[in-house]
Amino acid sequence: MQSGKIGVTTENIFPVIKKFLYSDQEIFLRELVSNAVDATQKLKTLAKLGKYDKDMSKAQVRVSIDEKAKTITISDDGIGMTAEEVDKYINQIAFSGADEFLKKFEGKAEAIIGHFGLGFYSAFMVASTVDILTKSYQDGAKAVKWSCDGSPNYTLDEIEKENVGTDIVLHVDDDAKEYLEKGKIEELLKKYCKFLPVSIIFGKKQEWKDGKYVDTDEDNIINNPTPAWTKKPSELKDEDYQNFYKELYPIAEDPLFYIHLNVDYPFNLTGILYFPKIRNNFEVQKNKIQLYCNQVFVTDSVEGIVPDFLTLLHGVLDSPDIPLNVSRSYLQSDKNVKQISSHITKKVADRLQDIFKNNRDEYEKKWDDLKLFITYGMLSEEKFYDRAKDFALLKNVDGKSFTFEEYKTLIKENQTDKNGTLIYLYANDPETQYSYIQKAKNKGYDVLLMDGHLDSHLISQLEQKFEKVSFSRVDADIIDNLIKKEDSQESKLSQEEKDDLSVVFSSQASNDFMVQFANLAADEAPIMVTQSEYMRRMKDMAQMNPGMSFYNQIPDSYNLIVNANHPLISKINTDKLAATKDNLDKINADLKPLKDERQKLEDAKKDKKDEEIPAADKERLESLNKEIGSLEDKKKETLTSYGKSNNTVKQLIDLALISNNMLKGEALEEFVKRSVSLL
Ligand code: ADP
Repeated sequence: MQSGKIGVTTENIFPVIKKFLYSDQEIFLRELVSNAVDATQKLKTLAKLGKYDKDMSKAQVRVSIDEKAKTITISDDGIGMTAEEVDKYINQIAFSGADEFLKKFEGKAEAIIGHFGLGFYSAFMVASTVDILTKSYQDGAKAVKWSCDGSPNYTLDEIEKENVGTDIVLHVDDDAKEYLEKGKIEELLKKYCKFLPVSIIFGKKQEWKDGKYVDTDEDNIINNPTPAWTKKPSELKDEDYQNFYKELYPIAEDPLFYIHLNVDYPFNLTGILYFPKIRNNFEVQKNKIQLYCNQVFVTDSVEGIVPDFLTLLHGVLDSPDIPLNVSRSYLQSDKNVKQISSHITKKVADRLQDIFKNNRDEYEKKWDDLKLFITYGMLSEEKFYDRAKDFALLKNVDGKSFTFEEYKTLIKENQTDKNGTLIYLYANDPETQYSYIQKAKNKGYDVLLMDGHLDSHLISQLEQKFEKVSFSRVDADIIDNLIKKEDSQESKLSQEEKDDLSVVFSSQASNDFMVQFANLAADEAPIMVTQSEYMRRMKDMAQMNPGMSFYNQIPDSYNLIVNANHPLISKINTDKLAATKDNLDKINADLKPLKDERQKLEDAKKDKKDEEIPAADKERLESLNKEIGSLEDKKKETLTSYGKSNNTVKQLIDLALISNNMLKGEALEEFVKRSVSLL
């Protein structure tokens, strides 16, 4: 019997391991099973090289629980250890046998997982005592049992053991009892060991018999030792990729496309990435990529390892070159990680470009599901934008799709305004914006559908990227103002008539409406409601950005555009004239001399300094202004009271509001009543 002290300098290494080294207690199982798989792979390598002559094809790793004895046992048919090796690899804990082995058999070794450093000692996170029962593959090797109770003291004895390989027995601590539950261990095995390259057995498969579950004779195999990503793309059919997706996400909808990654220089990376259908709530979909290191599950939170937009993808990445036990901020600056990141971005772009080129129909069909992902990518990765600008699509309200370039060509001729700015018209709610869309179409313009989650950001991005381009929502103004051309229509109303009518219409509109006149065709709508693109965008942004919240406090403001050439407006103008003529003529007659006099006084003081103007003139001007003001107020009163009495004015305004979905509640009820009585 040998006993001694484990070769570490500090007496207190175990509490450190327990508390700080592994923040995730449950990874002990991953570490121990990985070691067992490593040991098996090593012996397989030796067998291949002719250095071991037993059949290794059935080699497996077995995990079992003994609830009474309170132990978990991990057994393998691997390389085992001699007493000297236990001394070297286990007692001198910082000394990793994997390194030495790799050096010795460089290039020939089956993939070795063991670069986790202190992997084995993670057992002490859950066990008070750990036994190793091991027999080396070497001829004549004696089996040994190593035992350690968590203090730096251990024992090492010779024992009888029939088979080559290692059993690790964990005497589970009272405060880690949950790991003695079958369900818990099965859950952990499925999480971390699902794709390990050696069969992992956990008890027997069960069946439902006589009202309870009973063991069958069949081993309960946890893992798929040869997952799709470890195979060559040439060995796999479409179906295999789909099946593997189901294996990863049993309840997910079918993916749109996949990419098989297979790089071995300058870094090692394999994996399969899938494009899921993403409609709207993409937060939920994040963190679906699983990261493996030589088939050992490491994490499913790949932030910092791949660009943020790629975290929307699903699938598996496997790389021994991603440092695992380090902080995320370190990860982001790691050279390998950076290269891997930009490699994946490039591959994703290549794949999309490929499908776009070779199968545009299919691509267009799937666009709605891809759009959010691609938009997010363009917004967040400059490099991705540079690629995606050739295959990103713009869809118009009729469901037709165009590349950026195609769309530009389509609208260039017709939608360039008199300043040479190309105007992209868009709608985000074709139902409510129906009449505006029709007006744009009547002009021969095209209207894009921009109803996506990120479209307002995309619009800003495109305005920056494209030269002399500006986006306008169809309802931001009357169409002639959205795309200003040289020729403008004549007006049937004089400026004075417009000024008067402006008061008439204001009398029936609420305060947040500004009445404006537009010289439109006679068959255009008599009245329209618009909201300025600028204010709306500011408000939209304020909604998403708390720093801009003052924009939210500004009340919504709209324009009430009155068509100066519409027959109904002409009629209101004539009616107004008839109804207010006597009154207004009188006021105007009184106003005229006052205004003339004021003009004269204004002219006289034009080029004079204040002190040069006679005091009498100043006084007179002041009293003139007062008189004119009160006459104008009277005029306004007359027009307002006329406007209030005119049901057509109210009716026209309400119709404009209705076509914008803005007439609600009591106002809508009143409108209906008024309409009935007008009929
Ligand atoms: P690492 O796996 O990073 O090398 P560990 O502390 O997990 O570090 O293990 C140390 C060494 O102990 C391993 O490199 C290996 O040589 C040996 N070892 C651990 N578990 C086993 C096992 N089940 N069978 C054979 N050797 C083992």
